[in-house]
Amino acid sequence: MGLALRMSKIQESMTLALSAKAKKMRREGIDVISLSAGEPDFSTPDNIKNKAIEALSRGFTHYTTVSGIPELKDAIIQKYKRESNVDYSPNQVIVSTGAKQALYNAIFALIGPGDEVLIPIPYWVSYRDQVIMAEGIPVFIDTDEKSGFQFSIDDVKKSLTSKTKLILLNTPNNPTGVIYNEDVLKEIADLAIERDLYIISDEIYEKISYGEIRVRSIVAIEPKVKERAIIINGFSKAYAMTGWRLGYAVGPEEVIKAMNKIQGQVTSCPNSIAQWAGVEALTGPQDEVARMRDEFKKRRDFVMEKLAGIPHVSYVRPQGAFYIFVNISYYFNKVYKNYKVADSLSMSEYLLNEEKIALVPGSAFGKEGYLRLSYATSKENLEKALDRLKSGLLKLT
Ligand code: PMP
Ligand code: GLU
Repeated sequence: MGLALRMSKIQESMTLALSAKAKKMRREGIDVISLSAGEPDFSTPDNIKNKAIEALSRGFTHYTTVSGIPELKDAIIQKYKRESNVDYSPNQVIVSTGAKQALYNAIFALIGPGDEVLIPIPYWVSYRDQVIMAEGIPVFIDTDEKSGFQFSIDDVKKSLTSKTKLILLNTPNNPTGVIYNEDVLKEIADLAIERDLYIISDEIYEKISYGEIRVRSIVAIEPKVKERAIIINGFSKAYAMTGWRLGYAVGPEEVIKAMNKIQGQVTSCPNSIAQWAGVEALTGPQDEVARMRDEFKKRRDFVMEKLAGIPHVSYVRPQGAFYIFVNISYYFNKVYKNYKVADSLSMSEYLLNEEKIALVPGSAFGKEGYLRLSYATSKENLEKALDRLKSGLLKLT
């Protein structure tokens, strides 16, 4: 007797595994630069931290309602009214232990054995594995660099079968930084309404976009999709709160109710202290969000400038998030010493061992030929890391 069968079907989160490996190397005294972490390097803004300290001091240290405290749910409702002009009621909101758990709850509430879930490639690592854990079948919609990693409604329609239940979208996108075309999102919303499909729209990077393309929630683009769409959001990226583990979802009442049932059996409720920090994040001043976003934009521009100096690499200009998905396939099947770089995984290993830089292989996101570079680190680190990337690539002949 061994582990459950599902364990042979799922993988370790590559993003987390690589970040952990880079941290371990640093602890061992190796000068490694990690461009693998999908988390802001900024500290959580002080007003948010202070609200948590206050909650702790007044003894707000007990379980809360499974779906979150009313004050936070209200702040979330106000956010959607203010920014997307849609009305949600408290029973259409759930607060979870990170957007990741909100996503897990939603997938487990909707997907069972044999249900098909459409996922555009490249996709964030956890989508595939969470669907498989729920015994669903991920059905991938491929995109390419030529089309800016965008897909059309026909691409979606071609993948539909009688078993399709859910479409999983993420915009601004991890790992490409691409913002999906609004016209296509509207067409997908219409399709979901017409065919009784569900949409999970992961909008966790909505506050990190560079003003070149508008970012709106899918419920703002097509308000009628409110009955078919579960919007996933959180605090990790916009408010630099990855370690607080706080996220949320809004959606149709029956789905949120089911998500509550799951959450009540798995984690009971999100962290009580973090929830008050979340209230402050959503209702307090937003200037730090803008400051961090502006800093990310400067770094993006800097990374693009440095990449221009590396021959034979290409990418789609990221419009949001803090990643750039770099095509390094020209360097495949080349050698240096005893390294033969055959794919994105072996390239990632080569660069980590030889140049001491950590980047996530495209294969973890379902797209071979690429490396994901996270620019959520200082300019000094980026400068050094991009010099190392150039040196590592040019050594391969
Ligand atoms: N969705 C995407 C696309 C992400 O990149 C992340 C990063 N962690 C998450 C969800 C989960 O975020 P959280 O830290 O709130 O669980
Ligand atoms: N979402 C981040 C990333 O893609 C954090 C790691 C994770 O949760 O997978 O790197």
